[in-house]
Amino acid sequence: MISVREALGCIAAAFAPLEVETVPLAEALGRVLAENVAARLSQPPVAVSAMDGYAVRAADISSLPARLHCVGEAPAGGSYDKELGRGEAVRIFTGGPVPAGADTIVTQENTRAEGRQVTIVAGAPPGRFIRPAGLDFRQGEIGLTKGRRLTPRDVGLAAAMNLAALPVRRKPRIAVLATGNELVPLGTTPGPNQIVSSNGIGVGAFVAAQGGLFIDLGIARDSIEQLREAAGRAVGADLLVTTGGVSVGDHDLVQKAFSEIGFAADFWQVAMRPGKPLLFGRIGSLPVLGFPGNPVSALVCALIYLGPAITAMLGAEARITPCQTAFLGIDLAANDHRQDYLRSRLAYDADGSPVATPFPRQDSSMLSCLAEADCLVVRPPHAPPARAGSRVSIIPLPSIPSV
Ligand code: AMP
Ligand code: MG
Repeated sequence: MISVREALGCIAAAFAPLEVETVPLAEALGRVLAENVAARLSQPPVAVSAMDGYAVRAADISSLPARLHCVGEAPAGGSYDKELGRGEAVRIFTGGPVPAGADTIVTQENTRAEGRQVTIVAGAPPGRFIRPAGLDFRQGEIGLTKGRRLTPRDVGLAAAMNLAALPVRRKPRIAVLATGNELVPLGTTPGPNQIVSSNGIGVGAFVAAQGGLFIDLGIARDSIEQLREAAGRAVGADLLVTTGGVSVGDHDLVQKAFSEIGFAADFWQVAMRPGKPLLFGRIGSLPVLGFPGNPVSALVCALIYLGPAITAMLGAEARITPCQTAFLGIDLAANDHRQDYLRSRLAYDADGSPVATPFPRQDSSMLSCLAEADCLVVRPPHAPPARAGSRVSIIPLPSIPSV
């Protein structure tokens, strides 16, 4: 049995970034940028006002009140094209180009307009409320760097840079096969002793959320022939994920069936809970991840191993993740040799500190608890007993995509 760290090292070494493709910006959200991209123009293109008010010469308003002659308008999308002379002002609006000769903006609140005259009642130093050309970015400047998983913010920035299409990594094709004699497909009525297969679609949803392409191979019975046949249908995928049938029972035939078609294991069994019977290897050039059948085990293994595999295929950089610790809400006993991932609720105490409280029953069949959990509390192997209030590592399970 190997450690989680060793297993992750093995996964990281097994996957490399996939090919590059170009997508329209409107479809780029969540994709991983494959190259650095540069702005196609400068923003703003010229110096513009940050306020509604008057563009003036700072020297003209050194003594107040100052009466100036309003000679024209500079709205956003328009301009005042002459140079501002001494004693002159131009009515300007947010985003309006600052006319030549003007060097400061007086906000509307600090003025009184009477016909073509405007009285300035409060001063403004040179440069006030002027956004110089290229303040946000300059043409040719690298705006987004290779490896970014594109957020709505990035999409907005790319649009401002006039990048109508972006080079991204191809989506990893992840074939998912559920195995088990007891399984029936979603939407059908289970017979006696049968259950609806939730792993395929659950892992598939994880794949999609991580930026992969879910290929549903359906359900294979616990039979050597069916398992072999199903693996054959994974040809062309970047990774085959199976669930169930990798434990030590008489009906756990995945490893045996795949061995007959050339499967070579990198590891089987990891010191973790849930998820001990975890299989990783290759059939020829096809990597295979075999997850345990218990639904919580399958999804936690997806989070811990399939996530990094997809990230590696996307060439995505690791971004800083906030708040990775919390205070324990209950006492915990000493841990054994397996790294624990405890399904937990997260709340905030009176000081605003995060408090993680593991559910009392940590059964790896209980999808309801996993769905309800806000985080996983991570307990390293051989962790000593931990008191309520002590700090623990957590893996947040966020439900709201960020801007
Ligand atoms: P296994 O790893 O095949 O021994 O399965 C462990 C447990 O997970 C058993 O109770 C199975 O019924 C259950 N299980 C296996 N595959 C699925 C699946 N696709 N959906 C829901 N439960 C499953
Ligand atoms: Mg089974």
